[in-house]
Amino acid sequence: MIGLISATAAGAAARDRLAAAWPDRTRVYEGPVGDAVRAAFAECEQLVCFLATGAVVRLVAPLLGDKKSDPGVVCVDEGGRFAVSLVGGHGGGANELAEQVGELLGAAPVVTTATDAVGIPGLDTLGLPVEGDVAGVTRALLDGEPVALDAEVAWPLPPVPFAPRGRHTVRLTDRAVEPVDGEVLLRPPSLVVGVGASKGAPVEEVLGLVEGALRDAGLSARSIAELATVDAKRDEPGIVEAAARLGVPVVTYSAAELAKVEVPNPSDAPLTAVGTPSVAEASALARGGELLVPKRKSARADGHASMATCAVVRRAARGRLAVVGLGPGARDLLTPRATAELRRASVLVGLDQYVDQIRDLLRPGTRILESGLGAEEERARTAVAEARKGQAVALIGSGDAGVYAMASPALAEASDDIDVTGVPGVTAALAAGAILGAPLGHDHVSISLSDLHTPWEVIERRVRAAAEADIVVTFYNPRSRGRDWQLPKALAILAEHREPATPVGVVRNASRPDESSRLTDLASLDPATVDMMTVVTVGNTATREIAGRMVTPRGYRWQEAAS
Ligand code: SAH
Repeated sequence: MIGLISATAAGAAARDRLAAAWPDRTRVYEGPVGDAVRAAFAECEQLVCFLATGAVVRLVAPLLGDKKSDPGVVCVDEGGRFAVSLVGGHGGGANELAEQVGELLGAAPVVTTATDAVGIPGLDTLGLPVEGDVAGVTRALLDGEPVALDAEVAWPLPPVPFAPRGRHTVRLTDRAVEPVDGEVLLRPPSLVVGVGASKGAPVEEVLGLVEGALRDAGLSARSIAELATVDAKRDEPGIVEAAARLGVPVVTYSAAELAKVEVPNPSDAPLTAVGTPSVAEASALARGGELLVPKRKSARADGHASMATCAVVRRAARGRLAVVGLGPGARDLLTPRATAELRRASVLVGLDQYVDQIRDLLRPGTRILESGLGAEEERARTAVAEARKGQAVALIGSGDAGVYAMASPALAEASDDIDVTGVPGVTAALAAGAILGAPLGHDHVSISLSDLHTPWEVIERRVRAAAEADIVVTFYNPRSRGRDWQLPKALAILAEHREPATPVGVVRNASRPDESSRLTDLASLDPATVDMMTVVTVGNTATREIAGRMVTPRGYRWQEAAS
């Protein structure tokens, strides 16, 4: 919950806008501001105070405890010009809240946390449990001192400008080690603990068994990703409660799935009880990995039959591949999600000219693998290979990365051992359409005229089909120095089915600084004025030029009804 506190009429007006926009997330605190701040501080995860920073500093100072648990506090000034992240920038989420409040109120977010200001992620914001000298090592990173990464386990980390060696280290490990001076431990969620339990097995027994297994193997409980078991034990209280205390989810598999997993220690007992010769080992190994602790049973002091089993597996790191469309060129046509993925990746793969388009957005430490035109397959292979090594990779393309671009060659290479995310981008046909007017108001296709990868007969057949079906056509890759006869040929095919006066829109460098566009018609278009930076959109038989804009009616019948 976000507590809202204000003192003046202007503050109250801004407060009410926030309360109206986020009714379920906010609570208004009325009354004397001192009491209101104290009550909100005790009851809410975050505060937005429509007060001077000085006043808020004085009010919250005596209340501050620990940055891990204190609420995040954002101040908005009387004029509503700034949303200042005051305390709890990371732990309390105040930096993010300042951004959101700023967006809603039209105020500039003010974030002073050093790591955010210079684009280096705080070591406590990487999404992994951390131990050790977080402040000291983060300071060293900010000061440009060498900080080395010692990765015992591969994990897809966001970029951090690590040095080959240094006095400070960040150690990525699932081992039960203590941080030494100048060291930060990051705990990857690399361990899967398979558990079995007979009905009514107490939580202490399950938990004791798991903790004992980890202790003996020298592993850290903070690296447990999940407890895994058989479907039949989904609601077994001892398992559910053990997972809750460890702060991890329970994942279950059917007995049939588990029976197929090869394990070193199958036995008859679970086979009779739940229908698989192994629960603990099989569920830990169900999605692959290395068995670090084979099945062990709880030893009960009173000599009763054991009631719980467990096994520990280190799962292989799953790298992630984000296939990111950058849009046609203009920065404000790059989506916020694309920006987030670019900053999330530690390896960026792309064509050099596209890398230039977004280089300023990348975080320090991002490894950039750029290559020239024509190296598509190599780029696709590199991106997938890096992801398979456990890295967080972004593969970029202009427009939409799935449209005549890198997504298909990359995904044709990828196996299911990596996670793939696609971020859609504004493709050239849409960017051009918006400039021309509304040419895509009814059915439309895109056809690439590049016959480098596609035989001309195939392209021609598709152009003919679009011509016969009276579909609006946007030509990508319309013409280059070495390919000059394809566009006239394609236009001639369309002209067999459309009037010479059919509108044709030509857009070059849509949304880029040297953007140009013109509206002409099938009879008048001079192909020599078209190049590789251009898309050409040909209307259907209903498309008209209206007030200098290209308009394709939404539907003939709808149009009649409207007129
Ligand atoms: N993935 C890209 C298309 C790559 S094919 C996208 O979705 O837009 C390359 C062709 O796209 C170019 O030859 C040109 O025809 C077209 N194109 C790409 N960006 C363009 C832009 N900003 N303006 C006009 N045409 C563009």
